[in-house]
Amino acid sequence: MTLFHIFCTWILPIFEYGSCLWVFLIFDGDIVLGKDPASGYATVFNKLSSLYSKCCKLVLGVPSSTSDVAVFVRLGVLPLRYHLAWRALVWYLRSYHGLASKVVKEQLFAFYDDDEIWNNCCFYNPAFRMLFSLRDHSPLSFWDVRIDKASKLVRDALFAEASGFWVTYKSCPTMHLVHPVWKGATLSKICHSRFSNSLFQRCILDRAKLNGFLYKISASSHPNCSLGCLEREDLNHVLFTCPKRLKKRKELKKKFKDLKIEFNLKNIFDHAKTQIYVEKFILDIFS
Ligand SMILES: [Zn+2]
Repeated sequence: MTLFHIFCTWILPIFEYGSCLWVFLIFDGDIVLGKDPASGYATVFNKLSSLYSKCCKLVLGVPSSTSDVAVFVRLGVLPLRYHLAWRALVWYLRSYHGLASKVVKEQLFAFYDDDEIWNNCCFYNPAFRMLFSLRDHSPLSFWDVRIDKASKLVRDALFAEASGFWVTYKSCPTMHLVHPVWKGATLSKICHSRFSNSLFQRCILDRAKLNGFLYKISASSHPNCSLGCLEREDLNHVLFTCPKRLKKRKELKKKFKDLKIEFNLKNIFDHAKTQIYVEKFILDIFS
């Protein structure tokens, strides 16, 4: 959580600098997931996106091979292009309401009244079109509410749009079970340790060093349980079925029971009250 705050406070603003003015140019005025940046901007923007993903992975303590999309979903952040679009759209609405300045508002309406200028402008027009396309994801009109409310509505609408992409994303089946919806999330403020938290995040993001995974990448001579079971060692095995971990699992289940929380995959990886106990259990697996 502290790393996430450091990222948001000190690093993310560098990505954002001046982005309202250029983010629509990068995507020819149409920012959607899966679309490549325009050729003149591709190298630079891909480098920026790659750095953004790297920072998110460092926050979670997962390896660079982890799926970018799954990391964003887990962290509860938007992909970089949507994050920058969100800022640009809020800036548009600030201009619309005259909160940027009187001159900017007058410019926006003057551009709107001139078809030729409006069709060629690289900020107001694409921002307007994007807001219009997001309107179905919002219960209220972005234009008719206060700017702080509008900012949240736009962000939620972008998460809803991203969630539509996530539903069709084929990889990371475990993540889909724990996070069926892509939304802004808050990481638990408490963790057992940085190391155990990293193991915890690796487990849910399919990057835990379990034999089933290691065998797949030719880093283990067999895929079976390291405690001698003749079963494939994967997350399901170590969490729910491995007979050699019965005692530890019983202790963990008791913690869940005492807290009146059902012992299932969703609650194991997405419940602030049980996270410390799960991290300790996972730490024991890799000790
Ligand atoms: Zn086993």
